[in-house]
Amino acid sequence: MIIGVPKEIKNHEYRVGLIPSGVKELVKLGHQVIIQSNAGAEIGIFDEDYVEAGAIIAINAQEVYSKASLIVKVKEPLASERAFIHSGHTLFTYLHLAADELQTQDLINSNAICIAYETVTDQYGMLPLLSPMSEIAGRMAVQAGATTLHKSNGGSGVLLSGVPGVAAGNVVILGGGSVGSNAARMAVGMGANVTLFDKNIAVLRRLDNEYQGRIDLVYATEQCIADALKHADLVIGAVLVPGGAAPKVVTKNMLKHMKPGSVMVDVAIDQGGCFETSVPTTHDEPTYSVEGVVHYCVGNMPSAVARTAAFALCNATLPFVQQLAQLGTNEALKRSIHLQHGVNIYKGKITHEGVSQTFNMPL
Ligand code: NAD
Repeated sequence: MIIGVPKEIKNHEYRVGLIPSGVKELVKLGHQVIIQSNAGAEIGIFDEDYVEAGAIIAINAQEVYSKASLIVKVKEPLASERAFIHSGHTLFTYLHLAADELQTQDLINSNAICIAYETVTDQYGMLPLLSPMSEIAGRMAVQAGATTLHKSNGGSGVLLSGVPGVAAGNVVILGGGSVGSNAARMAVGMGANVTLFDKNIAVLRRLDNEYQGRIDLVYATEQCIADALKHADLVIGAVLVPGGAAPKVVTKNMLKHMKPGSVMVDVAIDQGGCFETSVPTTHDEPTYSVEGVVHYCVGNMPSAVARTAAFALCNATLPFVQQLAQLGTNEALKRSIHLQHGVNIYKGKITHEGVSQTFNMPL
């Protein structure tokens, strides 16, 4: 099969669909991989690295789309890219169709097979192509929070680790899934005092086994959260109700009792945010203050660490790309329920219930 990787053109998107080690695996299996020139240059992966891995370099996106049948990307195709997509293509990328009716309509019209990373599943019922980004965002949340605590960034001037003779800072994490458990790992590594809340006792049990008393694990009730916030230096919002808007676990009123200059990082902002006072921000202007508490609410945190994110994404997508390439899309879909879950549009028809409901279009 011919697999094509265009350069991402969305604003501030530096990731790339395949890294050279992934290319090498596919070429070893007898497939041809076409990479658009400079697709990885922004993150230090150059055309010569791809050539060394066995790829062919295309001069522009049009060449990639015209030669390849399986298109492996990172972000949803923008209008100019959608113009190249046709019925012979299988598109494999993040799509987030429910947020984009125009894209949905264009992809229906293309008659292509469109598989969304975000709805591919695994044998544990998880979303394996979303979790690498949650891992990154969870780890980054502590890094971002620690920097925001600097006086120069509007924070209280607390060093999370403390120093000998000065107590460590208090980190409160709301939600103990992929984001929350990765944030906990970083906060513990820094030497902070960590309290993590979740509504799911099984999650608390798993973390209890892992941390053996090193972090406080508390069942999430409004009162317990409000009490913990009074002493918090850094609060990380990481709750998720699958398919739904994030529940508001921190109210505006709770902020009045927090320490001035304490920091709240709302990782759940992409689902509407789990603090009542959260509004989406960008990497260019990541913070604002409410009631003296500094909020960091960047919706696409992993794009700040595009190199790590590209490698993590390719590690997760590669087994699926291999299946699609080895078996052909239709046979791969027949054999894998997990890839089937990823199909949002199949040759002119919506095949994902969520997308169909959002736009009131038939399945
Ligand atoms: P997850 O499903 O792995 O974990 C969510 C956890 O929240 C679960 O353990 C669940 O029991 C818990 N929870 C649900 N309701 C709760 C409540 N009321 N109180 C306490 N705990 C509650 O999800 P995840 O992968 O960790 O993702 C968390 C959020 O981070 C999602 O909204 C996700 O989209 C978002 N995210 C954002 C970025 C970003 O760049 N901002 C990147 C990746 C993920």
